[in-house]
Amino acid sequence: METAAELTAWPERLYEAYVFDMDGTIYLGDRLLPGAKRLIEELRRRGIPVRFLSNNPTKDPEQYVAKLAGLGLPTPVEEIANTVVTTTRWLLENKPGLTVFPISEEPLKRTFAKAGIRMSENPEEIDVVVASYDRTFDYRKLQIAFDAIWFHKRAVLIATNPDRFCPFPGGRGEPDCASIIAAIEACTNTKCEMVVGKPDPVMLSAALGDLDVDPANCVMVGDRIMTDIQMAVNTGMHSAMPLTGESTLAEALDLDDEHRPDHVLDRIDRLIPRAMWDEIGWSEDNDPIV
Ligand SMILES: [Mg+2]
Repeated sequence: METAAELTAWPERLYEAYVFDMDGTIYLGDRLLPGAKRLIEELRRRGIPVRFLSNNPTKDPEQYVAKLAGLGLPTPVEEIANTVVTTTRWLLENKPGLTVFPISEEPLKRTFAKAGIRMSENPEEIDVVVASYDRTFDYRKLQIAFDAIWFHKRAVLIATNPDRFCPFPGGRGEPDCASIIAAIEACTNTKCEMVVGKPDPVMLSAALGDLDVDPANCVMVGDRIMTDIQMAVNTGMHSAMPLTGESTLAEALDLDDEHRPDHVLDRIDRLIPRAMWDEIGWSEDNDPIV
């Protein structure tokens, strides 16, 4: 059992590659979090691969490119993956040729259409209901899902991500995909067959698939124990949890050894070992973004 001091100790090494969650980790709402910009820039300066991995399916990677660039962190689209990408890929590999009903916003539907996935709102022909973080969810969509799964007994339920809510500045948030899954499971008495996002290991190949690295030498950095840290556990990566989003130090301390993050950070640039801060000339007070 580690103490709070041990858990919040500075990492002593650099990793081969860094995979970052975005909401609550790199930014919150429309603001970068303290230390995020200089950390990413320092890793890039050292030639260390950086990847961004989000469970949020309400934007496609091109929209994340625009968001990160707008925050002062220009990033090529190849370095970004989210559940729009991974859910599309999962359907093509696991449900080829089937008809899908996406309960989603436009980016997911657009990407399905581009990939040639057939979509329908007719419950008689739907094979797969895809639940997601959908701020346009309504009773009509629930009825279609109910009819396809329960009445016609033909569709299965899958989902883009397991998150309960998306964190916002000031401690607020928005209900996320877990609430849509729960609504459909409750009325159909069925179980979601697959949840594509973190912590499922399918997200790892989306993040690191183009790199020749061993996950055991890479680190997953994210604010959620249930998704980010659990994905590191499921894939043998190291893990680091900034306290800028959902999960807390007390929650991390409560976990058993296997599930606890390797590092808990009050600010994300503490991923750079202490000795290197002096070398680079960083202090907590001289981050230009704060
Ligand atoms: Mg997050």
